Amino acid sequence: MQSLRKQLSLSMVFIAFFTVALISFLSNSLISRKFEIYIEGQQKDKTENIVINLSMQYDTATNTWDENVIHSLGMNSLYEGYVINIYDINGNSVWDANNHDMTLCREILHTISKRMEKHGAKGDFVSKDYPLVQNGKNIGMVSITYFGPYFLNENDFLFLNSLNLIIVLIGIVSILVSFVTGWILAKRIAHPITETSNIAKEIASGNYNMKFEGETKTIELYNLVSAINDLSSSLSKQESLRQHLTANVAHELRTPLTILGSHLEAMIENVWEPTPERLKNCHEEILRLSKMVADLELLEKNESANLKLNKENVELLALIHGICDNFKGELKNKNINLEIDGDKSIVVVDKDRISSVVINLVSNAIKYTDVGGNIHINVRNTENKSVIIVEDDGMGIPENELPFIFERFYRADKSRNRDTGGSGIGLAIVKSIVDAHGGSVSVTSTVDVGSRFVVEVGTV
Ligand code: ADP
Repeated sequence: MQSLRKQLSLSMVFIAFFTVALISFLSNSLISRKFEIYIEGQQKDKTENIVINLSMQYDTATNTWDENVIHSLGMNSLYEGYVINIYDINGNSVWDANNHDMTLCREILHTISKRMEKHGAKGDFVSKDYPLVQNGKNIGMVSITYFGPYFLNENDFLFLNSLNLIIVLIGIVSILVSFVTGWILAKRIAHPITETSNIAKEIASGNYNMKFEGETKTIELYNLVSAINDLSSSLSKQESLRQHLTANVAHELRTPLTILGSHLEAMIENVWEPTPERLKNCHEEILRLSKMVADLELLEKNESANLKLNKENVELLALIHGICDNFKGELKNKNINLEIDGDKSIVVVDKDRISSVVINLVSNAIKYTDVGGNIHINVRNTENKSVIIVEDDGMGIPENELPFIFERFYRADKSRNRDTGGSGIGLAIVKSIVDAHGGSVSVTSTVDVGSRFVVEVGTV
């Protein structure tokens, strides 16, 4: 197995290398071919010029050749790689490069052929005859020998070599740039992946408080990192709930069991008379335990996937008024002022279950509001939802406990310290019922200022 960084860097280098090699090969052969065509054209022009210039050196009035000019034309051509041989109309030699300086001719032709061979060019010496014509009249012939089909001089080769050098330099620079780009890109991609996989390992070993704090601008990586971060927070929350749940169950069971145990022991050992009063106390504790079990069963039922809701049309404001009538006694005892207002709101819900939601919220509001406090219930309609708001100015819930209060057996520390008689299942039941209706329940609260529970259910 290879690291992502290495794989990406190598792939980039490979792609760059392949592309540069292909471009170099194509451009090189294309340029060379074009250059050959250009040189062949140049050489054709050159021979035509030689022929025209030579034709002009014949004087038809005196039937003589200007030998001085012919000599310098011949020598110039020789130095440029063309060996010329001029004949008059009768076939007599007028000027012959070989006759003039055979060694120089051989030397020049030999140098050209060696140079072409050295550069791998194929070809051989060719001789071509051209008629010399003046004013439409044939005045002789010139034979031109050169390395064909074309030959390059030193400057031409220098030009081709510098082109190749430029292509090689571009290749080296491209490979370096793509290696560096690949490396940076790979680092950018690999870093969050490596970090995220380390975090995933930490999560697997039970350390849920790990988060990727770095930044990534890649959407897919951002989604991956966010998913792992969310997973870590939700596992951390679950872990904390699990710990709370165990502690809370133990706490809720301990109180009634201790009371029952000590009372019954005292009566068995004849320390206490089993008076109806004492037996009633024990019975109350058993009832408390039974209620807790019943609540748990209810919760389980509400949360089960195949829960059947008996939906019917319910007018919420009237339902709330009816439920609150049953709390009149408790409200009076604590001298709590209850206000109910809002819109008439008809929803299609399971009446008994939605009643449980209201009962739990109202009884909590009464439980956790001090004597002389206020409770306000408001019902309002939005576009396709009905909203029930239960607000009190009671003891409130600490901010750090808010995320947990809808969990079963969860009781905020403050309420635990007071004898409110709750077992921490009520809000879990509320949430399970509201969820079963496809609605939502939320809370905002400030300690010693009050709490506000908002339930939203769809109207149909
Ligand atoms: P309980 O039976 O303890 O009331 P709930 O599930 O109904 O259980 O509520 C969970 C916890 O949420 C309570 O123990 C209490 O700490 C807190 N709580 C619920 N409603 C209120 C409220 N209106 N004001 C203050 N705290 C509340």
